[in-house]
Amino acid sequence: MTTIPDITIIGGGIIGLLTARELTMAGARVSILEKNAIGRESSWAGGGILLPIYPWRQPSAISELVRHSLDIYPTLATELRESTGIDPEWSPCGLFISRNPDIERAIDWCERYSIDYRTAQTPSLDNLNCDPLNPLWLPDIAHTRNPRLLKSARRDAENRNVELLEHCDVQNVTVNNGRIVSLTTDRGERSVGHLIVSAGAWTNILFERFFPGLAAPDIKPIKGQMLLYDAPPDLLPGMILENDHYLIPRLDGKILAGSSVEQCGFDKSTSEATYHKIKSFAEQLCPALKRASIISHWAGLRPGTAHGVPYIFRHPDLENLSVNAGHFRNGLVMAPASTSLMADLILGKTPMLDPEPYNLLAPH
Ligand SMILES: Cc1cc2nc3c(=O)[nH]c(=O)nc-3n(C[C@H](O)[C@H](O)[C@H](O)COP(=O)(O)OP(=O)(O)OC[C@H]3O[C@@H](n4cnc5c(N)ncnc54)[C@H](O)[C@@H]3O)c2cc1C
Repeated sequence: MTTIPDITIIGGGIIGLLTARELTMAGARVSILEKNAIGRESSWAGGGILLPIYPWRQPSAISELVRHSLDIYPTLATELRESTGIDPEWSPCGLFISRNPDIERAIDWCERYSIDYRTAQTPSLDNLNCDPLNPLWLPDIAHTRNPRLLKSARRDAENRNVELLEHCDVQNVTVNNGRIVSLTTDRGERSVGHLIVSAGAWTNILFERFFPGLAAPDIKPIKGQMLLYDAPPDLLPGMILENDHYLIPRLDGKILAGSSVEQCGFDKSTSEATYHKIKSFAEQLCPALKRASIISHWAGLRPGTAHGVPYIFRHPDLENLSVNAGHFRNGLVMAPASTSLMADLILGKTPMLDPEPYNLLAPH
């Protein structure tokens, strides 16, 4: 690209990719700069459950993004599949939550956000060894196969002529008269129109390095480890959440088991202790998994904020700087609404939902 892109996005995860999609639909020319390969960090490592874990225990700012995203997902998945030929496998297989000491709160939340629920009629638990307490079945909750969602969103970006610069580490910025004028990367200097930082868990580091003294979002890396079983199809009636762990059945029978929540900086290594903890949860809950092999074990870094509410804002002190980051455990489910809100703010459109809770200065 020889001309200056209207929008430069740092970070090619799900947030960067879907933000680019929104902005190109409005006619903007967009570049994404990604220090590794596109879509290989947290967005790849996640489970893809399209509901927060116990959303009724979390701030309503999360539920608002979730509700809007749930409305967008079926159409988004269809459009991505048809335009790219890569199926993000949006699968509304339902979510069974076995233990709900706060069932009244859960029911109020489902009614408030129009989420279908059953307390009496649950799916068959034949293969499961769970210990239900006020069980809850949410038959319409879906998951997406996030690595495929990312491939599809990447192809979609290419089709929309988004410039994708991989292995391009953004190392510094030049600011002049309250505007960012250029970026220094390990692949050279780039002029900037408007800059969006969607660098997930790395967003804070970039702020500290690029904008010392400027008000910054508070985002920390929170490691999560997962296991993948090669299991026969139809072992589970849907996704299962028991206490803090879950099983997610993919369409081809593979089952994900997760996850850990660990604060250890930017260390992305896996550990044997966590492997055994997740394995023991999975095989206790679904004994048939003892006969299935574990074919993968990985870790990713969630972009954590104190209450899980992401930052989506235009910076008050730099007119051409915006941030869309800090989605913690819910970046896949919140991505469609959060990127649409970001685009509304940049394009000066009436926002689809109240942007205040996602502001830099809102209590997070
Ligand atoms: C184990 C695990 C399970 C999860 N399960 C779920 C789930 O079931 N449902 C759900 O909704 N969410 C889930 N999540 C959370 C979700 O994955 C994240 O919230 C989401 O992926 C964040 O997306 P992102 O685009 O902000 O970050 P990322 O995908 O991490 O993308 C940020 C990108 O910025 C790039 N970057 C950083 N610094 C620079 C730089 N200097 N220059 C250029 N590029 C840079 C990085 O390389 C990275 O690719 C899970 C996460 C994990 C780890």
